Amino acid sequence: MSDAIESGEHAAPRTVVVIGGGQAAGWVVKTLRKEGFAGRLVMIADETHLPYERPPLSKAVLAGEADIETVRIAKPDEFAALDIEAWQPDCASAIDRAAHTVTTRSGRTVKYDKLVIATGGAARKLPASVAKSAHVTYLRTLDEAMALGERLRRSERVLVVGGGWIGLEVAATARKLGVAATVIEGAPRLCARSLPNEVSDFLLELHRANGVDVRLNAALVSLDDNADGGVRATFADGSTLDADFAVAGIGLAPHTALAEAAGIAVQDGIVVDEFGQSSDADVFACGDVANHPNAWLKRRVRLESWANAQNQAIAAAKAVLGVKEAYAEIPWFWSDQYDVNLQILGDLPPGVAPVLRGNLAEKRATLFFVEDGHLRGVIAINSARDLKLARKWMNQGRAVDVAALVDTSKALA
Ligand code: NAP
Repeated sequence: MSDAIESGEHAAPRTVVVIGGGQAAGWVVKTLRKEGFAGRLVMIADETHLPYERPPLSKAVLAGEADIETVRIAKPDEFAALDIEAWQPDCASAIDRAAHTVTTRSGRTVKYDKLVIATGGAARKLPASVAKSAHVTYLRTLDEAMALGERLRRSERVLVVGGGWIGLEVAATARKLGVAATVIEGAPRLCARSLPNEVSDFLLELHRANGVDVRLNAALVSLDDNADGGVRATFADGSTLDADFAVAGIGLAPHTALAEAAGIAVQDGIVVDEFGQSSDADVFACGDVANHPNAWLKRRVRLESWANAQNQAIAAAKAVLGVKEAYAEIPWFWSDQYDVNLQILGDLPPGVAPVLRGNLAEKRATLFFVEDGHLRGVIAINSARDLKLARKWMNQGRAVDVAALVDTSKALA
């Protein structure tokens, strides 16, 4: 078989190379084998661990209740049975699309028929002009979470920079461990990009009720070493705050440089279609790093969520083998903080005022986003069952009656 035919879109690949070793990469390799791919499968990752799931990192791992054994995507013997050449720890340093090769930092080269980029991203870093202390940490990998957990458990006060998902989950874990926590957020409310006002306010109350010192509109100027071996935050108004150490959760920077350098289309992530295929027909991408056309949102989006990493990876792996099943899941996300499980499903259009079922003050409520008589999105606070029903109705395209949605005297079903 000639190389041209071999690398043709519908020919079975002989070698598939996966760059990345996270949740998306793990599901790509698992799916390829499940779908019967018997060729050479190389996974290149700078992690020392086999693929694992991230949601427990800011919770159970930080609290010392979970480790690599509990967060793995596949047990070592199951992974061994997949017959994968795991090049770990190594790092893909260049893709030569004409030659169909990937070169690594350690100097190895592999020829691919199909390539999957599942490189995820790195924790965004504070500028060096701000983070001048050695006591500023980030949380993205398992090893970082393990080290952070050990440090947290022997600390008295932690400073959390960023009132997003990492920041709030770290603060909740700190409180659970009896560690004093301050959260500083530059914006006027928490999780401002992903939540409506009333849910930001709900989270603010929740954290304050659990003893977290939350400071909104905080203009952080610098983080310096203090005289006690800890960190001192200085704000624009001249005030200061001391802590044993700081954790910054200020967003994710997707690892797109490799794709960009190879001339693959990148725009807030690697641009892919609904099958995970990039601007190069032999190169696919999925997970946090991929920007895909989302059928539910009716726009392109780069989703940073557990469900997206898994399900987009499954669709991409199938497409690699020529099985075209469009990735068209309704975006879904959850967070656990204290006694609250918060889930977000679908679209939360900024112009739509949510319809409230239940009572936020009682920590059990569902916010429905209704447009033209149909559900566009849902936020469920300790009401997973409502969200499950809503998901069914959304998938069915079923019309909803707003009066019935808010009537808690009757079961939603
Ligand atoms: P994030 O959710 O985007 O939140 C970052 C927050 O930090 C934003 O509120 C941001 O405000 C704020 N911020 C940015 N620069 C700041 C500064 N200099 N000072 C103070 N605040 C600042 O990102 P993340 O919390 O770092 O999480 C990283 C990734 O992990 C995301 O993909 C997230 O979804 C994921 N994650 C998911 C879960 C979960 O699924 N439950 C849990 C943890 C993490 P602006 O918006 O105004 O910039």
